[in-house]
Amino acid sequence: MTRNSLDKERYFDAIVIGGGPAGSTCAYKLAAEGHSVFLLEKSKFPRFHIGESMVPYLSKLLEMMNVYDKVKESAFVKKTGVEFLTGSTGELQRQSFSYLADGQYKYTNNLNRGRFDQVLLEHCEDTGAEVLQGADVKKLLLDGEKVTGVEYQYQREKYIAKAPYVVDASGRAGLVSKQFKLRKMNSRLENVAVFQHYKDVIKENNPGVEGDVLFSSHKDGWLWGIPIESDMISVGAVMPLSILKQSNPEKIFKEHCDRSPRIKSAIKDATAVFDKPKVELDFCYYSEQFSGPGYFIAGDAACFVDPVFSGGVFLSMVCGLKAAEAIHDLYQGRDEQLVHTNFENFCKTGYDSYFRIAYAYYYEFGRDMNRMGVDLPGGARFVLQAFAGDFWPDEDQPVMRYLRSKKEWSTFKQPFDIVYECPVYADSHYKASDLLNLASPKGFGSISGESTSKTNGLTV
Ligand SMILES: Cc1cc2nc3c(=O)[nH]c(=O)nc-3n(C[C@H](O)[C@H](O)[C@H](O)COP(=O)(O)OP(=O)(O)OC[C@H]3O[C@@H](n4cnc5c(N)ncnc54)[C@H](O)[C@@H]3O)c2cc1C
Repeated sequence: MTRNSLDKERYFDAIVIGGGPAGSTCAYKLAAEGHSVFLLEKSKFPRFHIGESMVPYLSKLLEMMNVYDKVKESAFVKKTGVEFLTGSTGELQRQSFSYLADGQYKYTNNLNRGRFDQVLLEHCEDTGAEVLQGADVKKLLLDGEKVTGVEYQYQREKYIAKAPYVVDASGRAGLVSKQFKLRKMNSRLENVAVFQHYKDVIKENNPGVEGDVLFSSHKDGWLWGIPIESDMISVGAVMPLSILKQSNPEKIFKEHCDRSPRIKSAIKDATAVFDKPKVELDFCYYSEQFSGPGYFIAGDAACFVDPVFSGGVFLSMVCGLKAAEAIHDLYQGRDEQLVHTNFENFCKTGYDSYFRIAYAYYYEFGRDMNRMGVDLPGGARFVLQAFAGDFWPDEDQPVMRYLRSKKEWSTFKQPFDIVYECPVYADSHYKASDLLNLASPKGFGSISGESTSKTNGLTV
């Protein structure tokens, strides 16, 4: 908060609405490029946010933003793999990130989002962005169809900020997409999530590898168990809305947790943090357009897929970064139409890829992650790469090539040009030519690194 923040009307190169991962990343990049940027955040950080399991490609992005050291200093839980328990078969496998391509990070983190989002917000401020917390954007300012700024409320007073470019990173609030009626619900994925945090977790009760996400699927949905602090775990149950409607959140949450013996064990004798489980509804939607006159939309403000592959934060940040690069390009005098088209193509490729992986899980593989590792073309290495965050793979990457052949899984109605260029790893990823040289294991492997194991006692 500076004295200038109290001026009634101010001017910037760019304004960012929202200080979540998308907004902070965008403001960081703009500031790093020397632009004046004003980020307005409604709440006071740290604030609670769900979305705590990360993909490995995020590690490289954090490094590129010069913030990974700060993240490491903050002692977030290190994650080197995920275990998948499939209820219908009783099969338990572990996907180890050590099989990622040479030159890539073989780990990522589980994040207490209150702490992580604060680290990112402080990082963009340290880089030169002006950040105002407790500033609630109430209205977009328009000149014809062009967005020219925002009106916001801060300590009960109204203020105006103007800029040639406004980035909407307001998350699910989606100020721009709602105002321009761009948001469409995804009728293929009408899931809900019911979740709880547990503290005082007893380490010995966790049956998995330390830091691993415990993932379980069963006939009515799936569960996450994400260790977010050394003694704290986030547990969530995802299911179709129709299942939740048959009961109440407390009852259904307990009943679903009881279906996974491994999560049930991990929370034994731990203490629930919230009075009752929290619920998130209607979380799958997309926007047909990611930018327009005077605006760019990044992160959940534009699009949100199902959380099943933990890609939300990575996609949000990388699109926030691209929004900043687009604005920088415009200040460099690049062709406006081209800049917007490139941004649209990038975001649509990323979200379209991610939606396809989710559809494969739900519709082709009957919620059996382990079968995806065996049956998707290319084998477990390529599947791991897709799960890890490579949503912009080479044209001949076998997994994505196969998923893209499913015309019925297209998300966006307007055609777009697919971007075949990973934003974080230019070269160090598996290429189709590696198929000949690398033995790709069939399936992910067991917890102990030996053969796949069956788990007794699973109730589906
Ligand atoms: C049940 C569930 C589970 C999930 N699990 C995962 C997971 O395991 N891994 C993963 O990567 N992702 C997960 N996600 C998704 C992830 O949480 C989001 O993709 C991510 O938080 C998006 O970041 P963002 O910056 O776009 O939005 P947010 O993080 O939501 O940030 C938006 C910010 O904008 C602010 N804001 C809103 N309105 C205004 C306004 N009017 N004025 C000023 N500020 C405003 C908000 O206060 C907020 O801080 C999950 C989501 C759900 C619903």
